[in-house]
Amino acid sequence: MKTGGYLCTGCGIGERLDTKSLESVAVREGRIAFCKTHDFLCSQAGVDMIKADMAAEGDDKVSKAVIMACSRRAKTESFNFGAVPTARVNLREGVIWIRPEGSEHDETTQEMAADYIRMGCAEVKAMQQADASGEQGKNNHIMVVGGGITGMTAALEASKAGYYASIIEKSERLGGVMGQLKQRQPEHSPFQNPQDTGVAALIAAVEADDKITVYLNSTIAKTAGAPGRFEVDIASSVGAGTHAEFGAIVQATGFTPYDANKLPEFSYGKSPNVVTQLELEALARAAGDGPIKRADGKVVENVVFVQCAGQRSTKEGHLSYCSGHCCATSIKQAMYFKDSNPEIETTVLFDDIRTPGAGGENFYRSAQDKFVTFRKGKVSTVDVKGNELQVNFKDLILDEDAHMGADLVVLATGMLPNSGTDIDTMKDKDASGEVKVSVESILNLNYRQGPDMPQLVNGFTDSHFICFPYE
Ligand code: SF4
Ligand code: SF4
Repeated sequence: MKTGGYLCTGCGIGERLDTKSLESVAVREGRIAFCKTHDFLCSQAGVDMIKADMAAEGDDKVSKAVIMACSRRAKTESFNFGAVPTARVNLREGVIWIRPEGSEHDETTQEMAADYIRMGCAEVKAMQQADASGEQGKNNHIMVVGGGITGMTAALEASKAGYYASIIEKSERLGGVMGQLKQRQPEHSPFQNPQDTGVAALIAAVEADDKITVYLNSTIAKTAGAPGRFEVDIASSVGAGTHAEFGAIVQATGFTPYDANKLPEFSYGKSPNVVTQLELEALARAAGDGPIKRADGKVVENVVFVQCAGQRSTKEGHLSYCSGHCCATSIKQAMYFKDSNPEIETTVLFDDIRTPGAGGENFYRSAQDKFVTFRKGKVSTVDVKGNELQVNFKDLILDEDAHMGADLVVLATGMLPNSGTDIDTMKDKDASGEVKVSVESILNLNYRQGPDMPQLVNGFTDSHFICFPYE
């Protein structure tokens, strides 16, 4: 039983370092049994050489290994020797890639490599295969918070992979925001027309799946424990709550639409003919296969879409980020009108058109083919003129002020994530001057460091937080 060292001379290591000297450092100072070199250690031949040493019998058997090659993040499959403790010494990224070239640096570069090898040899001595704690079995049950398209997809994929899933949905139905849409943007080539949302089929699949349990009208009262052993109290607004244990949590709690009442300059709330994209979906669903009508029953003949409404803006109360979906949503909604009647005037006033994801560009071109008008302009105000609207904007191509009439204006407002705490916006302080974090939490974590995950930037939450309960 001994410790073997394996030094790779590939990827330029052999050219930059004196590998004979490093072998000697490993054996004499690192006190390992031997150090072999190979010019391509991650190749099949290199890995087989190591495995043969590990498979040897008696005193020749290598029971621990030191791989002196590239970063421990690289070639993890090649250098996975199961139960054999293996240290990785990073001579490539950690030494030769970061050290300047030139003979005046050779000595310090060599010293650095030797130090790393000494550390790797010391590390492997302390390494041992961890014993299973025996305290718990593997918990194959996943809690999915949120019954929208993301939550349902996560639960179905978990089930396909052999896991059990429980969907916790706050409302009385599955479907989420996607369930409120008439259609969605296309997922498949040629990406030219809106398509069915697929929500009904997903709900049917979830309900037919024996491995998925759905809790409607339910929220999380308390989450304790840690990954692998979460203990969750599920509260119900219509009956008794329940307690369950889960191995993992998927938070798929979606978003809240930005409050368009914060945009009085666009006459939202002043005229029922200024609507958000989600409100237009309701009008489109109500219309069915017929023409889309305004709240007063008038058939829409001239619609203007205002992009980036309250978004990508540094103005107080606006969202600084791009929500990513609303350009494609406006394109899709413009097609609702054009597909029902090509004579309807549909204008999209945009600063930038952003259609990320597969087929976004094709979808945009398809709208142009249907004679949707795209005009590069920044909208300043929307005025109410009797039953009609006037959209005032700066034409960014002509660099001049312009305006146009409309009988319906659709605001492309953004999304606010339903998760995490935006600590940067917390302003309340207690007597000691510390920021008070008051959160309407979704997971209600029973953690010392707070009931919810902090947001990193632009609404993205730091899920690492949940791995370290410090209870
Ligand atoms: S990738 Fe790593 S193991 Fe493979 S040749 Fe390069 S340094 Fe050696
Ligand atoms: S997706 Fe389009 S409308 Fe939405 S914020 Fe981004 S650029 Fe603006």
